[in-house]
Amino acid sequence: MIVIMSPGAEEEDVQQVIAKVEEAGLEVHLSRGVEHTLVGLVGDTRQLTVEELEVLPGVQRAMRIMQPFKLVSREFRVERTVVDVGGVKVGAKEPVFMAGPCAVEDRESLFETAEAVADCGAQILRGGAFKPRTSPYSFQGLGQEGLRLLAQARERTGLKIVTEVMSAGDVEMVSQVADILQVGARNMQNYSLLRAVGSADRPVLLKRGMMSSVQEWLMAAEYIVSEGNTQVILCERGIRTFEKYTRNTLDLSSIPLVKKLSHLPVVADPSHSTGRRDLVVPMAEAAIAAGADGLLVEVHPRPEQALCDGAQSLTLEGFARLVDRVGAISSAKMTVVAADDGGS
Ligand code: PEP
Ligand code: MN
Repeated sequence: MIVIMSPGAEEEDVQQVIAKVEEAGLEVHLSRGVEHTLVGLVGDTRQLTVEELEVLPGVQRAMRIMQPFKLVSREFRVERTVVDVGGVKVGAKEPVFMAGPCAVEDRESLFETAEAVADCGAQILRGGAFKPRTSPYSFQGLGQEGLRLLAQARERTGLKIVTEVMSAGDVEMVSQVADILQVGARNMQNYSLLRAVGSADRPVLLKRGMMSSVQEWLMAAEYIVSEGNTQVILCERGIRTFEKYTRNTLDLSSIPLVKKLSHLPVVADPSHSTGRRDLVVPMAEAAIAAGADGLLVEVHPRPEQALCDGAQSLTLEGFARLVDRVGAISSAKMTVVAADDGGS
């Protein structure tokens, strides 16, 4: 249930609502927007009626949220969440580019990639230090050494860092370097990890599980936000279908859908969703046209030598082309939106 305060409600009114909710043994999540303050009630709300909340001073409306996810729903927060990664804004107007190798492999190739993607206009460097690999015999990542190299790449280029954390016990260590904690597709329903990143002081990139519905994905986000961390970026990375020509199927429709259902920003990963370098640019364009707030893209200076996911990694030149093409789509979109606004 949520309680929507009137625009002119006093702080005292808000406190009275909170007291009433807490008296009923429920937890409160406050969301202070430009126009309205919303009081979210978490727990078994059956003991409170809409009427008894609506009679309190300063209350405009109380309503039950019908979706199973509450705090991440559009009903709970009308304004879109903009995740601020040290000044890089995900969910604002401009698309954000997160680019880099699948895994951190060595200092030279990481720095070469970081400098090239920064020159093209990327704001965030991606790269796994801890890799979730299907085979235990495949390269598992450089671990803590990988984190050190990512920190050095940030020093050199000013790029922010997004990197995966695979277990709850590693959250503190990875947070020392990561500007964004990535929860991978395979861990989307690792609830102890979700709770741990929910208590961390870092934004979280939550990838959609490859066999997860949109509702399960939003419920996973709800775990994180319910622990107090509201800085969540959703990432559509493709789901498993019967199609064999591509590694996964990019569920483009989830992008506008999630933006209807939730206030959280959403980015797309055209690399893992296709598994094919030749499809990365067209799907990146399509994702931005569909409303994605940014892209997570694998880039490697010599993809044929990559230790992981070379077939889907763009070359440095390929990434420059992607930024160009996406820039054209994004400005065309803004022109259309501006024209629409002018006409209404
Ligand atoms: C990744 O982005 O490094 C990754 C492993 O992707 P996913 O979790 O989507 O498979
Ligand atoms: Mn990869």
